[in-house]
Amino acid sequence: MSYFDNNATTPLHPAAREALVQALEQGWANPSSPYRTSAQIRASMEKCRESIASTLRIDPEHLTFTSGATEANNSVFSSLAHTSPLGSRVLLSPYEHPSVTEAAQLWFPDRVDTLTAQQNGEIAMEELSDFLQKEQRPVLVAVMAASNESGVIQPWREVARLCQTHGVLYHCDSTQLPGKGSLHDLSLCSFFVTSAHKFGGPKGIGWLVGEGASSLLVGGEQEKGRRGGTENYPAIISACTAWESLSDFTLDSEHFSSMRNKFEKQMISEFPSIQVIGQEAPRLWNTSLFLLPNFENLRWVGKLDKLGFQISTGSACSTTKKGGSPIAQAMKLSPADSQHLLRVSSFHSHTAADWDDLFSAFRQAHLALTEESADSSVISF
Ligand code: PLP
Repeated sequence: MSYFDNNATTPLHPAAREALVQALEQGWANPSSPYRTSAQIRASMEKCRESIASTLRIDPEHLTFTSGATEANNSVFSSLAHTSPLGSRVLLSPYEHPSVTEAAQLWFPDRVDTLTAQQNGEIAMEELSDFLQKEQRPVLVAVMAASNESGVIQPWREVARLCQTHGVLYHCDSTQLPGKGSLHDLSLCSFFVTSAHKFGGPKGIGWLVGEGASSLLVGGEQEKGRRGGTENYPAIISACTAWESLSDFTLDSEHFSSMRNKFEKQMISEFPSIQVIGQEAPRLWNTSLFLLPNFENLRWVGKLDKLGFQISTGSACSTTKKGGSPIAQAMKLSPADSQHLLRVSSFHSHTAADWDDLFSAFRQAHLALTEESADSSVISF
């Protein structure tokens, strides 16, 4: 398996594919229509909601299907902007996905505070605590569960408990958690979100969880009035199938992280100037984010791609972004330095041999890049 960009998206799980195809063929009726076929689809959709809610230990009524995590993150801020007092502020971690930061800036213009980025990639609980004791407390705190770029796991359970103590809403972008980290206690968060394509489900489907949470999409009474738009039943049943397959899978995270850690050790010994971002912090077992001074990241990606290995320059959504990714900004990397970030992200199917093959490919790519640069520096008369 040579696909190492699973934080961007994962391949469709075979069972999720089967459910998707079957629903596209047989479950294509509009779930809101008044005949029996639609009633069956509505019932199946509710079964999915209940099944997901029971693993998350939440009330199914608090789960709204959305087009994914971007819509769900946006919705948290749009609905809060309509219900919170004038002048309310929100507080974000410095590592949030753009669908959190940009939504916060859109709905709370000039009223967004950001926690300080620490060297190890985590937020500082003391700083958060200080913010929550201020006279003008934020109405909502947003700290993601795990970074899509570095894999660093934030102390989100502690954040949830602290916010509860201070009576402040807590939004957790938990998009990168399913299949990689424990979901236990997510119910402590006021809001959290999921995207099915990050754990073997199809793209364009996810959910928003929270009491009273509603999508920014209006113009229909679907989802009990919480989200307008015809429900995408084939995507919902497929996402639910992927979710249930995930719940059946026992994660040996120690085994998985030991393979990743060995790979990082090999990389450090091969490229001594390399930095592993967030190495000192708790991290998802599948992610390595490197700052690799030798050659620009897109050249590495291109060479590795030709060798049959897909890795990324950081988050997929910031590959072409000028200001750099959230982590590059949080680490105050210069534009030139941020072009040296490389992300490797595995998933359940990777074996020790796959990691060894990836390391060999890095060595080969390095050789090719070194030869290329030697050739280009030869002056011909
Ligand atoms: N939040 C995080 C942490 C992500 O990694 C992603 C995916 O890139 C998103 C939000 C957006 O997810 P979606 O593709 O479902 O809109």
